[in-house]
Amino acid sequence: MQAVKQFDTTPEVELRKALWAIGLRYSLRRRVHETRPDLVFPREMVAVFVDGCFWHGCPAHYSAPVRNAKFWRDKLRYNRSKDRRDVRRLRAANWVVVRVWECAVRCDVAQTVDMVQLAVRARRRIGKRGAASV
Ligand SMILES: [Zn+2]
Repeated sequence: MQAVKQFDTTPEVELRKALWAIGLRYSLRRRVHETRPDLVFPREMVAVFVDGCFWHGCPAHYSAPVRNAKFWRDKLRYNRSKDRRDVRRLRAANWVVVRVWECAVRCDVAQTVDMVQLAVRARRRIGKRGAASV
């Protein structure tokens, strides 16, 4: 039994279903620039990360485990610096990066769908040389 799932969390699956329903097709965890976003739109160069509240330290929901406190503190620090590095690398390579907390997806999947859709459609409209941020 796993207390905290890292992949295929419910909000992520929900987001995938909702994107699929409006006709957006993506690759799952394709490796790009030494990272593996949850969803990748290769042609549009849009990368989507759904960050788990526990693994990435959501300000609203993260609470540090009492047992093995140092291990978890280091783990969180590592995850966060990797997150920043991944975003920097992708943006430097002209990718659009959409990062959302899993709780935001759970709370309002439609809003996340809108963000992803905007990024993908903008890229289709103005091409990859357009603005590299959303
Ligand atoms: Zn959260």
